Amino acid sequence: MEHIWTPWRYTYIKNVDTKPGCVFCTLLSSGDDRTNLIVHRGVLNFIVLNLYPYTSGHLMVVPYKHESSLAELDDATTSELMILAKRAQRILQQEYKPDGFNIGLNLGRVAGAGVRDHLHLHIVPRWAGDANFMSVIGETRTVPEELSETYDRVYKHF
Ligand SMILES: [Zn+2]
Repeated sequence: MEHIWTPWRYTYIKNVDTKPGCVFCTLLSSGDDRTNLIVHRGVLNFIVLNLYPYTSGHLMVVPYKHESSLAELDDATTSELMILAKRAQRILQQEYKPDGFNIGLNLGRVAGAGVRDHLHLHIVPRWAGDANFMSVIGETRTVPEELSETYDRVYKHF
């Protein structure tokens, strides 16, 4: 993977597409990706760990553009969103060896979106038995791995 430093692009994205007060836009405009759990910046999207993971390895692919609707997202961003989702799935499969995945979008409050104005594609590794465990503990979600450890395990693959 070749990384090319393009500060002009970053400035452009920050000025044109982000929105103050939005949690994802705020993460993007900060320079400290490790603190903000951003594991990868693509051309039009980035990948970030979920601060409140459903399971270990819970990632989100997020467009730089502050957009709430998949239908309104431009084709180039949509395409890269899915390409990064595939890459994230491969990495998680290799690193965590889950039995399955939930991959999807929650759009709108009634659909369960935590951040409603800035869409994000969840990638959640699943293991046989984890749902049973979740139902026992209800809303209290215990994840056995520290986020800093998850960060290192995922980041090294990019
Ligand atoms: Zn935003």
